[in-house]
Amino acid sequence: MLSVFTRDLRVNDNPALDDAGGGVVPLFVGDPRIERLHGSPNRQAFLAESLHDLDRSIDEMGGRLLHRRGPWVDTVLLTAAEAGASEIRVALDVSATAQTRIRELRARTDIPVVLLDSITVASPTSAAPSGVDYSQVFTPYFRRWVDVPRRSLATTRARLADHALVGDPLPEIPVAGTSPDRQVGGEAAGRARLDEWLPRSRAYDESRNALPDDGTSRLSADLHFGTLSALEVVTRSEGIGADAFVRQVAWRDFNHQLLFHRPEVAKHDFRDSNPRWTDDADGLGAWRTGTTGFPVVDAAMRQLLHTGWMHNRARMIAASFLTKDLMIDWRLGARWFMTWLTDGDVANNQLGWQWVAGTGTDANPTRIFNPTIQSKRFDPDGTYIRRWIPELSEIEGPDIHDPPPLTRAAMGYPLPIVDHREAIRDFKAARGYR
Ligand code: FAD
Repeated sequence: MLSVFTRDLRVNDNPALDDAGGGVVPLFVGDPRIERLHGSPNRQAFLAESLHDLDRSIDEMGGRLLHRRGPWVDTVLLTAAEAGASEIRVALDVSATAQTRIRELRARTDIPVVLLDSITVASPTSAAPSGVDYSQVFTPYFRRWVDVPRRSLATTRARLADHALVGDPLPEIPVAGTSPDRQVGGEAAGRARLDEWLPRSRAYDESRNALPDDGTSRLSADLHFGTLSALEVVTRSEGIGADAFVRQVAWRDFNHQLLFHRPEVAKHDFRDSNPRWTDDADGLGAWRTGTTGFPVVDAAMRQLLHTGWMHNRARMIAASFLTKDLMIDWRLGARWFMTWLTDGDVANNQLGWQWVAGTGTDANPTRIFNPTIQSKRFDPDGTYIRRWIPELSEIEGPDIHDPPPLTRAAMGYPLPIVDHREAIRDFKAARGYR
């Protein structure tokens, strides 16, 4: 049997390693085309670290991870033939790329291709309202989601085949273009993060919005690469009553089922509204580099560059600023996020952007975040701003949220590139809202 690892880079709770009676050949295919289209140095580094860790774990189980580079479908087919595989197992994934390659694989072989539910908690085909394929509204989705029957956590370990197939060396861990303080990948690191997080997870509802605090799990990259199983994370969190946290992880399943049924929304508005966007190259440049003159927006964007991660509240503020204050197309923002986020995930990122931009499932086009009000509310002491904008670290008191012009000039920090009230008035006028 050939088990092809993709976004399930773990040995714990991985049905790809469940005992199926036959020897399992574990394969990972590094596809240069996917790297070219979707790669980012932070994610490449996390992926490489995760593969090295998986290789060690499989080695301890008495097997050998086969790593091969090449076009994904060709390489899987070639390996299946060389291994004499009677079955190919792959995690069920939701993006257009993932779905297309499975269709192509099935079209080109008679070997059964078995799709495993190992990326999400509930399968993307479950929890839909009756009579339709998918759910567009989170709250009723969540009510159904909690009752969806789940597979048991995978505990048995497969007999690994003693194969002599020749692979390529594991990828090196890139340094160029990565964030200086990025998260390190691998199942061992992910499990340590989960163990550290769980005792704090019951306070999530109170801690999750505070920008400067460490009040969220930081498990998003582990969930994206599958170095942690979403089912295990949820099962253990439910066991200690971390309900608000579990609900948030269910948003991930919600987005995955949307993308599974509507893969085109990675590129197109979910609702066919096609609003007009501006072509503001200077504004886009200031936003990307964290020099808009709005301290909380700039802190968020600099956190992204420095760590490859951004707080959820900050993602919403930064995305609202780009799409509402600057009226720049959400796709340009989503692309920049995907360049840097270690947890960059087509389902969560593109649909998160559409949610803020007002083009997504939730029809609230006037959801507008006032950066200064958000800053006062979720970073009241300015700790988050001072951490990420060293120019402003000497400012004391509430001026930190919107420093006076002379202070800005003295500290080498720019004036706001727009007037928020005017920008929002223009935005509403352009969209025909009052
Ligand atoms: P926690 O708050 O600890 O949440 C636990 C887990 O639940 C997360 O790891 C994530 O898997 C899931 N989750 C949390 N919030 C959301 C949400 N709003 N939507 C979907 N899943 C959620 N998340 C990504 O994983 N990848 C992305 O590329 C991504 N891009 C985003 C872009 C925008 C514009 C917005 C508004 C949100 C985006 N999110 C994305 C969702 C969310 O911001 C991150 O999942 C979260 O900040 C990750 O930090 P954490 O692990 O500490 O989250």
